[in-house]
Amino acid sequence: MSRREPFEVLGQAVAPGRTQRFELPVSRLPSGAEIGVPLVVVHGRERGPTVWLSSAVHGDEVNGVEVIRRVLARVTARELRGTLLAVPILNVYGFAEGSRYLPDRRDLNRSFPGSPRGSLAARLAHLFVEQVLDRSDVGIDLHTGGTHRCNVPQVRVAFDDERALALAHVFGAPVLVPSSLRDGSLRATAAKRGKPCLLFEGGEANRFDREAIEVAEGGVLRVLRELGMIAGEDVPEADLRPFLARSSRWVRAGRAGLFHLDVAPGSAVRKDAPLGRIEDAFGGRSLAVRSPCDGLVVGSATNPVVYRGDAIVHVAEG
Ligand SMILES: [Zn+2]
Repeated sequence: MSRREPFEVLGQAVAPGRTQRFELPVSRLPSGAEIGVPLVVVHGRERGPTVWLSSAVHGDEVNGVEVIRRVLARVTARELRGTLLAVPILNVYGFAEGSRYLPDRRDLNRSFPGSPRGSLAARLAHLFVEQVLDRSDVGIDLHTGGTHRCNVPQVRVAFDDERALALAHVFGAPVLVPSSLRDGSLRATAAKRGKPCLLFEGGEANRFDREAIEVAEGGVLRVLRELGMIAGEDVPEADLRPFLARSSRWVRAGRAGLFHLDVAPGSAVRKDAPLGRIEDAFGGRSLAVRSPCDGLVVGSATNPVVYRGDAIVHVAEG
């Protein structure tokens, strides 16, 4: 076999069989400090696909950072076939502040593909597309639920994208949710460029969720094994057949009060089955919250204090 070419980043060459960390320069803080996005390149000794792993596109979604740390601890450039591009903290600004957004409140995941002369979010998106996405064959973007919302580990994928759907099955999260492509999202940009991209969601913003982290760690390793990049004999098999959702909807609070969830996240529920109740602060005026359909509870609000109309339980319809 002919020798593999080095992988070049910002004019620096990573030799086959080497792992190297970079800081992709984005901009300076107003105080003058240079801000960079960390990128780890694991350039396998042998040829194979290039896969990117990204997380903290929303800066407060930290589970993916831990998932990528664990995956990098298990993958060595000596044994890898292909190249792994890991970007654990894409939204470095939001991450530093514990915020979902950029300092100007823009959502990075609505700013792709970005541009080199746009807003900070657009520049950050463009940097990622140019340095990582365009150089990859497949991507996995790791998210969590938003603030005060906890998601059962799930993969969101366009069901008409056959290659992405096949990899979503290999990933082996407990739930697969069909999800159309949103303009400006990383996943939509990947799809337009013909790169299958899985979006994982699990747990809650600003928290480590051990179960979600373990599901995603196993899922990423199973995808790398499927693509022939790692041998992966010690990677656990996904032990469940995923629940294939047809659609999903949020149940909203019928009145203000304190919400008590009475079913475990991940439980199967029947239409009209009680999911919980909303009461006043003294346990009075109890209002039952019922499932709108047969399905699976895939997410819930974690702050019990609710107003009428707040989204409180997320049910995927099977
Ligand atoms: Zn997110």
